[in-house]
Amino acid sequence: MWQECKDLQEYIVNIRRALHQIPELGTNLPETQAVICAELDKLGIEYRKNQGDSGITGSIKGEKPGKTILLRADIDALPITEQTGIPFTSKHEGCMHACGHDAHAAMLLGALRVLNSHKAELPGNVRFVFQTGEEISKGAKIAIKEGVLDGVDAVFGTHIGSLLDPAIPSGTFIVVPGCCMASFDRFILKIRGTGCHGSTPEKGVDPITIASHIVISLQEVIAREIAAPSPAVMTVGRITGGFAYNVIPNEVELEGTIRAFDEDVRQHMAKRIGEISSSVAATFRGSCDYEMDWGAPPVINDAAMAKLAGDAAKRVLGEEHVQTSRPAPNMAGEDFAYYLAEKPGAFMFLSSSDPAKKTDVPHHNPKFNVDEDVFCKGSAVFVAIVEDFLGC
Ligand SMILES: [Zn+2]
Ligand SMILES: [Zn+2]
Repeated sequence: MWQECKDLQEYIVNIRRALHQIPELGTNLPETQAVICAELDKLGIEYRKNQGDSGITGSIKGEKPGKTILLRADIDALPITEQTGIPFTSKHEGCMHACGHDAHAAMLLGALRVLNSHKAELPGNVRFVFQTGEEISKGAKIAIKEGVLDGVDAVFGTHIGSLLDPAIPSGTFIVVPGCCMASFDRFILKIRGTGCHGSTPEKGVDPITIASHIVISLQEVIAREIAAPSPAVMTVGRITGGFAYNVIPNEVELEGTIRAFDEDVRQHMAKRIGEISSSVAATFRGSCDYEMDWGAPPVINDAAMAKLAGDAAKRVLGEEHVQTSRPAPNMAGEDFAYYLAEKPGAFMFLSSSDPAKKTDVPHHNPKFNVDEDVFCKGSAVFVAIVEDFLGC
C-alpha cells in the first residue's frame, strides 16, 4: 500500500493547504471540521461529530473480525500571526497552523483513503479521531469522554516537524520505547501583602520582594532536590504586580510551568511549589494562594507497540530513515499522553526539517512551516502499522 500512499501525495498536500488557510483555536473548529467531514463524505467513510467540541470520530470496519486500532490526528491551531509568506498563508487574522496539525489531519485522511479502499481485506477495525484542543491540553480528554477509546486495543499518533531536533533530516521517522515527552502543568501563585507608600515600606508588607524571593527559592527544587539524571524544568513565565514607581501594591501574581518525565518528580515539584511559596510569603509577613492547573502526564510509549511501529516504518521507509533509539530528552508536552495512560500504543515523530526549504524553524514560531514532501510517508506509516497490528 506504500505506492498507493505515494500516489496520494498531491491529494494530501491539497488538503493540508486548504486547512492551513483556515486555522482555528481551541475546541471550537467549525470550518476545519467542515473540510474534514466533506472529505470523509466523499470517501464514504462513516463518522460521528462529537457533542462537546468539533472533534470527529469514525471507523472503517473491516469485513473480517479482529482487533480495533485507533489512529489520531490533532487539528487545532495557535494564536499567532503567520509570517511565512507562503501562497496559501492563513486567512484568519492572528491565527496560524504553527505546529503542523494541518498536516496531521491531511496525512490521516490520506491513510484512511487507502485503508478504506482495502476494507474487504481488513481483519478488524480502524477507528480514527480528528482531535481538537491539543495546544490547550483539552481535546484528548473530551474525545475520551465521548468514548473514542471504548473497545480500542491500541492507539497511535504522529507529530510532524522539528520538535525533537531540527538536525534530524526531513523524512526520518522516530519512535522510541518508554517516555518520549514530558508532563506539562501550570501553576498560579497569588502573593498577598499590604499596600502602602513606597517611601514607608515598614507600614505595609511588600508582595514584590516576597515574589522575588519565591522565584529564586523555587529554583532550589531543581538544583538541590531532584536527582541530576532526572530531567525537570520549572519556569516562571509571568509575573504581574504593581502600578506605580512609588507604590507598594497589595498583590502580585506569578504563573509558571513544570515539566518532568517521571510522575514522582512531577508530584514532588508541584508539592514543593505550594510549600515554598506559602512559607516564604509567611517568613516576610505575607501570604500566598497556590493553584495547580494539571495538564497532561508524560507521554509513555508501550515498548511492544513502539517496536511494532518502528518495524512497520522500516518496512516502508527503509531502515536508514527510521530512528528507534532515544533522542535527546524533549521537555515539550502532548495531550496524546491521556490515550497512552489508558491504552497501549505509541506516539511518533516525523521530521520535516530541511534548512534549504526553510522548514527547520521552531514550532510555534510565526515562520514555522513543514516539508510537504514527507506527507505520503506519514500516511504510509499509519497504513503499515494498521497492517502489522491487525495482521493483514
Ligand atoms: Zn504545538
Ligand atoms: Zn503540536
